[in-house]
Amino acid sequence: MRRIDVLVAGAGLAGLTCAFELSTLGFNVLLLESREVVGGRTSSWIQDGMPVESGLHRVLGFYRAFPDLLRKAGIELNSIVYWEDEVEIRLPDHRGAAVLGAAPLYRPFETFVGALNLFQVLSPVDLLSLPGFLAGGLLEYFSNPLNLDQSSVTAKARAYGVTENAIRNLLVPLTSGLYFLPPERYSSYAFFGVLGPYLPWIYTVRVGAFLGGMTEVMAGPLAAAIRRNGGEVRTGVPVEQLLFENGRVTGVQAEMNGSTLLMS
Ligand SMILES: Cc1cc2nc3c(=O)[nH]c(=O)nc-3n(C[C@H](O)[C@H](O)[C@H](O)COP(=O)(O)OP(=O)(O)OC[C@H]3O[C@@H](n4cnc5c(N)ncnc54)[C@H](O)[C@@H]3O)c2cc1C
Repeated sequence: MRRIDVLVAGAGLAGLTCAFELSTLGFNVLLLESREVVGGRTSSWIQDGMPVESGLHRVLGFYRAFPDLLRKAGIELNSIVYWEDEVEIRLPDHRGAAVLGAAPLYRPFETFVGALNLFQVLSPVDLLSLPGFLAGGLLEYFSNPLNLDQSSVTAKARAYGVTENAIRNLLVPLTSGLYFLPPERYSSYAFFGVLGPYLPWIYTVRVGAFLGGMTEVMAGPLAAAIRRNGGEVRTGVPVEQLLFENGRVTGVQAEMNGSTLLMS
């Protein structure tokens, strides 16, 4: 019978990463995924003949751990990503679109010219109301994160004097695009959490789109790397419950091929 050192439940990006890193270190890993495809919230599949993607996925140029993980697994980020390097703001009242460059290091000219396009949606007063919010929010992110977490993005922006026009024409589209939520619906800690940890590399920001479905270009190749390391990845196997003994997790109960397995 095959010896299992570590059982990982769930083949989303976290589970795939955990299983890959442990298999690289020589552990015998078994990764169980309840769905038929690996990738979780970053997955893609074929349904009734139609390719389905779990959502809109972008990679930001200042990510550090993600490209490192892919490289270790033999996947070159640049071979699975197309660098768009721009963000487009469209307002519901159809007053046009502002295309902003978003790659100061890689496309400095386009980024500078793109920044001027902000004036299509913001007045100079609106624009001047933003730096205090950005600087103050980032300072709070490091000095008083719990306090930051008490306010929504809108409340925090208002507290720093951001104009209503800047909230409506910049913050709403930006946060709706990043978090799929309007800024009054989530914590300003989460908002500044996209920037705070990456401040030293902020100049390397850029926006990349994946050149295919997420399971196809990312999650599947990560699963393949786990298998190359001797690990096992099983899909369609939900972990039903954890097994305990003396307060320690000793195994799991899982459904495989219609029968219940106890693994410990
Ligand atoms: C629409 C959308 C767009 C996003 N866009 C971006 C983006 O552009 N850039 C970015 O950096 N991040 C983005 N994110 C966030 C990112 O995708 C998630 O943070 C990340 O995928 C979460 O990975 P995870 O492994 O923690 O969780 P999940 O992906 O949710 O993985 C959990 C896995 O566990 C499995 N599972 C659950 N219970 C069991 C069980 N009992 N037994 C076995 N398996 C189980 C689930 O089926 C799933 O596969 C986006 C998220 C969404 C939803």
